[in-house]
Amino acid sequence: RSIMKSLGKLRKIFAVGVTVLMAVSLFAGCGDEKKSADSGKSSNVAEDIAAIKKRGVLRVGVKNSTKGFGYQDPATGKFTGLEVDLGEALAKKLGVDVEYTPVTAATRTALLDSGDIDMVAATFTITPERKKSWDFTTPYYTDHVGVLVEKASNINSLADLKGKVVGVSSGSTSAKALVEAMIKAKVIDGEGFDPKNFDAATWTKGVSFKQYADYPAISTALTSGEVSAFCVDKSILAIYHTDDRTFIKEEFAPQDYGLATKKGSGMSKYCEEAVQGWLKDGTIKKLMAKYKLDK
Ligand code: GLU
Repeated sequence: RSIMKSLGKLRKIFAVGVTVLMAVSLFAGCGDEKKSADSGKSSNVAEDIAAIKKRGVLRVGVKNSTKGFGYQDPATGKFTGLEVDLGEALAKKLGVDVEYTPVTAATRTALLDSGDIDMVAATFTITPERKKSWDFTTPYYTDHVGVLVEKASNINSLADLKGKVVGVSSGSTSAKALVEAMIKAKVIDGEGFDPKNFDAATWTKGVSFKQYADYPAISTALTSGEVSAFCVDKSILAIYHTDDRTFIKEEFAPQDYGLATKKGSGMSKYCEEAVQGWLKDGTIKKLMAKYKLDK
């Protein structure tokens, strides 16, 4: 109860809508960063790490409705998930508290660019295009893209999606992944498809898209019939998979998730070293088991 009280107090200290949790000792062995690690180095790369330490808080952008990765309990405000734990472990390593900011596919990069958050841990797929603008760590998880439909629609496959309108999130890889999968499956011929300049907003050959700011909006659009299908990574779709909905039989386009940071920043190096360590020492594996992501 007193922990809850002090948590409540802490929350008030920081901005509304952001839940703050003390970096607790869940990650034995990750918290003994040498105090002298940054001393004597005045490179730019060390500066952002020093700034985070001075601030005393690591700001992490996470999902708030992706169970197992980033999920915020509406009743308690508490964040849970593998990516939430990674953020907490990094904060612990840095010796600071952690502050979570809910992000979407549409908002995460702007929040990183503006410096509102120090890093993104939010089912963020590593792509060659994105790597030009941000640094990504080695992948810590791989998911596939899937398509969720209403059972009553009788859509069961990529072939059944021909001519349909599909709901996707703005700023996501989903639409391009679906078009590529439909081309591969020879459902559409792919004439005019240019992977480098693909735009979900203007693609109409064999399938078309409506883009939404967040996933609850796509789920509502699926119910109302505004779209015939909901396409994104299966981990994200899981929470919207109700009894009257089903996945089409195909899944495609493996999505490698990495922690994203500002290009060339100290955080990039810090995160990469941390992820490498966690992949080696079994931390990631344990978290996957903890959140049942290892099936
Ligand atoms: N993981 C995909 C992406 O990065 C889906 C969007 C999302 O993460 O919300 O584009």
